[in-house]
Amino acid sequence: MSVLSDLEARSGSTCELCTGTNNLEVFEVEPVTISGVDSSILACETCRTQILDPEQMDANHWRCLNDSMWSEYDSVKVVAWRMLSRLKSEGWPKDLLDMIYLEPEALDWAKATGEGMAEADKIIHIDVNGVILENGDSVVLIKDLKIKGSSQVAKQGTAVRRISLDRENAEFIEGKVGPTLTVIITKYVKKI
Ligand SMILES: [Zn+2]
Repeated sequence: MSVLSDLEARSGSTCELCTGTNNLEVFEVEPVTISGVDSSILACETCRTQILDPEQMDANHWRCLNDSMWSEYDSVKVVAWRMLSRLKSEGWPKDLLDMIYLEPEALDWAKATGEGMAEADKIIHIDVNGVILENGDSVVLIKDLKIKGSSQVAKQGTAVRRISLDRENAEFIEGKVGPTLTVIITKYVKKI
């Protein structure tokens, strides 16, 4: 079965955030390390548009989170947490945020995009040229990199796709070099 049909089955073909049915599509909840049902939700166009573009937010639409934040699926709860965090200043989302419960791992996931953090608290990762790196970016190594715990060396010029940022340290990112997930120092990469 495809991710779409799995999500349709678990949601009864409704938006997992607002139960709408308008133009439902698979929405991957960043940062995605393994694509699939567990890292995705089925979301309608209204929800997807507002998630992706904070300028188009209609706070009232998100009262639907009152129900969907109790979803049994972490991917749904993570999006609920992020949208409530974004809308915190409205008042009522703050109350829901106090009630929503995420397992520690899911909470880390929810916080991974920096949603809900003050701009000043955000950890910014930059490459060798000062370009800001985001989760999911691709980079190229600008010098040979010894892979920790192995005798392997990743050569300068190796591309690393779908990096994830170390949430506690601006100097580190993680990415797969060949089959190995490894930590890479940001000043030795260039965004591509
Ligand atoms: Zn929706």
